[in-house]
Amino acid sequence: MSNHLQTDTIVALATPQGIGAIGVIRLSGEKAITICESVFATKSLHKKNLENKASHTIHFGVIHEDDVIIDEVLVSLFKTPHSYTGENTVEISCHGSKFIQQQLIQLFIKHGARMANQGEFTLRAFLNGKLDLSQAEAVADLISSNSATSHQVAMQQMRGGFSNKIKLLRQNLIDFASLIELELDFSEEDVEFADRTDLKNLVNSIQRIVQRLIDSFEVGNVIKNGIPVAIVGKPNAGKSTLLNVFLEEERAIVSEIPGTTRDVIEDELNIDGVLFRIIDTAGIRETSDTIESIGVVKTYEQIKRSSIAIYLVDVLKLSATELKKTVEELKPHLNKSQLVLVANKIDKESIDHIKQCFSEFPEMLYISAKERIGIDELKKHLVKLFDNQTINITETIVTNVRHVEALRHTNEALLKVLEGLNNNV
Ligand code: GDP
Repeated sequence: MSNHLQTDTIVALATPQGIGAIGVIRLSGEKAITICESVFATKSLHKKNLENKASHTIHFGVIHEDDVIIDEVLVSLFKTPHSYTGENTVEISCHGSKFIQQQLIQLFIKHGARMANQGEFTLRAFLNGKLDLSQAEAVADLISSNSATSHQVAMQQMRGGFSNKIKLLRQNLIDFASLIELELDFSEEDVEFADRTDLKNLVNSIQRIVQRLIDSFEVGNVIKNGIPVAIVGKPNAGKSTLLNVFLEEERAIVSEIPGTTRDVIEDELNIDGVLFRIIDTAGIRETSDTIESIGVVKTYEQIKRSSIAIYLVDVLKLSATELKKTVEELKPHLNKSQLVLVANKIDKESIDHIKQCFSEFPEMLYISAKERIGIDELKKHLVKLFDNQTINITETIVTNVRHVEALRHTNEALLKVLEGLNNNV
């Protein structure tokens, strides 16, 4: 990375493209304040000084090109090193019109700024020591967080939770290595500087923490990408109807928020801040025509990939005896997945009669996907299952594939060291 790249002034729109009440344009680099100042003025186009203003202050004025006013804006000043990037930074809050935003960006480029590359502000924060790599990665996670839990985990990582834990481990390893190296230096003299048991305990304790971090990835992955849910059952049980009810409600929630144009991800479902991911949505939609035997294999596969398996029963078609047999067949395939039995189409029969038929399944939930009866209870039940997994967010949770890979390598190395210690190498 050349020095030039680190100090030239970059510009970009910080808010999403499109129309909004306001848009924010961010300038960062040595000349950020000078560039902004050169086009900043009072309403009557008297030059307004920014260079001599204090950091963390906001200034009202207009941005103009010669005698044409482009917009009335608020300029926020952050002087080096007290900014996100560590450099001089200016944030211009303008009106949220695409045209204004483009005009302003063009104007700043004309005055010496350069269009920022993707992630370049965060890259600079990293290069200037404002964030370490894991924190920089957490910024991306934070921006894309779509549930209360993924937000909480990303926030903790950005605030340095993960980094602190790694720093501590690193220090322990350095201490360990220096003891070993010291012994190597005096290897001729056959002296032991450190007690073997102490060394083993030290490596053991580090290895345990590393292992715990690796294990947390399973939870971390679930938090980041959603808890995988499989909807299974015989053809015509109502799987795709239920899927649609889930996803339609999600879509309705999203589109109710005015001005949001977020694309609904086909198979994600956010219930009370917990993210679920329905696996194989395409498969669910086409199961009606699949031959039974293929369907069964597919069902097992889906269950294997899920944390929660919803087994949907058509109350008119499946007897309690058949269900009992099916549950027994499913059990060996459940692995860590939790089975949720759901009786569907309760609108077609008297509910008392249905409940009586399935009385040996006290945990059974009763719904009508078509008439949207019992859907809220089903959703609440899914959230409860998640809570029961006792995910402790105050613990450091690894959510990043790169991190878990590095930890796995560390773990392998530590296990080798322990083996060496045990064999008195
Ligand atoms: P899949 O094969 O399991 O995906 O089942 P579908 O969702 O395609 O549903 C099969 C048929 O059952 C369709 O005609 C649905 O309209 C109907 N159906 C689904 N849920 C209900 C329900 O709760 N009540 C009634 N009466 N019909 C339903």
